[in-house]
Amino acid sequence: MVIVGAGHAGGRAAQALREFGWTGPVMMIGAEPHLPYERPPVSKGLLTGEQTPERCQLMSAVDLDRLQVSQVVAWVERIDPVRRELWLTGGPQQARRRIDYEALLLATGGHLRRLRVPGAEAVGIIGLRTLDDAARLAPRLQPGARVLVVGGGFIGLEVAASARQRGCEVLLLEAGERLLGRAVPAALAADVLALHRAQGVEVRLGCAPTAFALAGDGRRRVQLDDGSEWRADVIVAGIGIEPAVELAREAGLAVGRGISVDATLATSAPGIFAAGDVAEFPGVQDGRPMRHESWHNAETQARVAAANLLGRGERLQALPWFWSDQYDHQIQVAGDPALGVRGVARALEGGARIDFHLDDAGRLVAASGFGPTSALAREFKLARWLLERGAQPGAKALADPGVRLRTLG
Ligand SMILES: Cc1cc2nc3c(=O)[nH]c(=O)nc-3n(C[C@H](O)[C@H](O)[C@H](O)COP(=O)(O)OP(=O)(O)OC[C@H]3O[C@@H](n4cnc5c(N)ncnc54)[C@H](O)[C@@H]3O)c2cc1C
Repeated sequence: MVIVGAGHAGGRAAQALREFGWTGPVMMIGAEPHLPYERPPVSKGLLTGEQTPERCQLMSAVDLDRLQVSQVVAWVERIDPVRRELWLTGGPQQARRRIDYEALLLATGGHLRRLRVPGAEAVGIIGLRTLDDAARLAPRLQPGARVLVVGGGFIGLEVAASARQRGCEVLLLEAGERLLGRAVPAALAADVLALHRAQGVEVRLGCAPTAFALAGDGRRRVQLDDGSEWRADVIVAGIGIEPAVELAREAGLAVGRGISVDATLATSAPGIFAAGDVAEFPGVQDGRPMRHESWHNAETQARVAAANLLGRGERLQALPWFWSDQYDHQIQVAGDPALGVRGVARALEGGARIDFHLDDAGRLVAASGFGPTSALAREFKLARWLLERGAQPGAKALADPGVRLRTLG
């Protein structure tokens, strides 16, 4: 069993192979010189200092040893799906070598999108994907440092929150007219905007950088398309990823907006599966092809993939779910809000809210929530439970804070 990508999905799949009883060899090949780890702290706790790299690990070196999983730090260059072999470079000898596989999992995640603005190379822009990215940025978030964040998606907003918590001055630019694109309903995005402004982040919507240059004082000069100029000590881009599909594409596998897989995570090539950020799979709710970049997706798909590497024929069942922590607030979205035709808002104690999304038959298809984590987390768990049960609660009851969610399932 060979796994390409020793990240979240890759690491979990290796663990699951053993859990499901596979006793033969497992090799996990990844480009990063780290044990598999969870990425959420990269834009949060590792920047604020509340988290350490060791605590992000999915497993320790001792666990890996105990599981008898061999991790190879190397770059996989090519797969031959007919001969069932792959080629990698790296490792202690930096040599090119061939590995044969019986079954293969591609869990290659994604590459950060680069900011294509004149001067970007010269001023050094930091993107956030890895432990090493966090290690580069964290020491630069000194009190008073001027931080430009480009991108008002989850990662950009989390970095802005972390930088404010470290006492930095933050300007966040979002080219669109609202934060968070279409990932959350507009009303929720407006609440998130209000939170960041209240925390002292300067947010400019409909605004993008047009040029960067080094200034004489060691800072970076930033030209903006609203005609103004800003001085930054550090520039962070949070403008998304491109799924790492190149291996699959070159091997002739079907590729769409990710590596195309069916509901068992099988690719178009026999014996090859894909999971995590890189996989484009049929959505559990409506069968439409989708990718989902989330901790929960990596976690759940890794297990389905491991089962199917062993020939069990399991199908995806988990509904999408993700969260984002910003200051002491949290955003959570479960299910696909785009499938809803009607929204019902429920105010929670402590200043949080959940928006329920219903389809035209009144069935719950998604929930999105925002507010202080202490007020949201428990209620949102119940919202997910309702969703997973396919509940059809009346809109009036959903909106009424006097009616407990627990009674609506
Ligand atoms: C900064 C950050 C914060 C996040 N916060 C949250 C959050 O709060 N909540 C949430 O739900 N989700 C969050 N996520 C999303 C979640 O962490 C990802 O969806 C998850 O890590 C995806 O796992 P993966 O295994 O698919 O990819 P990854 O974990 O990225 O692993 C892919 C690995 O494959 C390696 N690789 C790629 N190509 C090759 C090759 N050819 N040869 C060798 N190795 C290769 C890469 O180097 C990488 O190590 C966050 C992500 C980031 C980056």
